[in-house]
Amino acid sequence: MLGAMRSTRRQRQGEFPPAPEPLAVPVIDSHTHLDITVAEEGAPGGVAELVGLAATAGVDRLVQVGVDVESSRLGVDLAARHSAVVATVALHPNEAPRLGAQLDEALRVIEGLAADERVRGIGETGMDTFRTGDEGRAAQEASFRAHIAIAKRHGKALVIHDREAHADILRILDDEGAPETVVLHCFSGDADFAAECVRRGYLLSFAGTVTFANAVALRDAARVTPIKQMLVETDAPYLTPMPFRGRPNASYLIPLTVRALAETTGADLDDLCAAISATGDRVFGPW
Ligand SMILES: [Zn+2]
Repeated sequence: MLGAMRSTRRQRQGEFPPAPEPLAVPVIDSHTHLDITVAEEGAPGGVAELVGLAATAGVDRLVQVGVDVESSRLGVDLAARHSAVVATVALHPNEAPRLGAQLDEALRVIEGLAADERVRGIGETGMDTFRTGDEGRAAQEASFRAHIAIAKRHGKALVIHDREAHADILRILDDEGAPETVVLHCFSGDADFAAECVRRGYLLSFAGTVTFANAVALRDAARVTPIKQMLVETDAPYLTPMPFRGRPNASYLIPLTVRALAETTGADLDDLCAAISATGDRVFGPW
């Protein structure tokens, strides 16, 4: 069915890549957007096909991540219908400034969804100074603070989106007091920032970006991260690992990223997979 799934978005060209060799020891995909993948890439078998392909590749547990009220509701629904899927719920940092006066009401909906048993994290939330101007930043920070509070009230993992905002993320976490479990989704810092996150006990989730030729600093970051504090993710349909950068992404491509991580860090592939699997179960499980 892979060949039948075609990319419809200009940024991602062509068909889904061929399936890589499966992993011997299964892992989780700690961050995927099944709804966006189906909507934008047109997988004809829908979520069930994507979940099935992932399992065949040795990616037998997926974390479906919400970015707004609608996708958060959908995630709860997907997690109820698929035993391999659990959900996180949140308003994306780019969503907060857009909501304006409706932000508080949207946060109330997120808080309500957070209580669901299949919701295992609050995210993706955080700071994204890439697209947000100064006026949007205040709303973004208020939203991030509110999500930190929700994560703590419900005892769930905080899944952080950090785009060119490392210092702000740490400042706000220190100010609010971090929840027990903090995951930096699509980790994008250098070795110094990674070491600081490791020291704080945070988890670093590496995406396909770690395979990109120019990602030298990111691979240095992976080398200072103990495998027990590592997670792996697709952020599908985005950030497709090499050699398929630019084509649509899905959880069945995780083996490409895990193998690159093993090569970069010198860790044994099976040991790395076992560590990621155990951490994934501890943070987001049981499935
Ligand atoms: Zn994401």
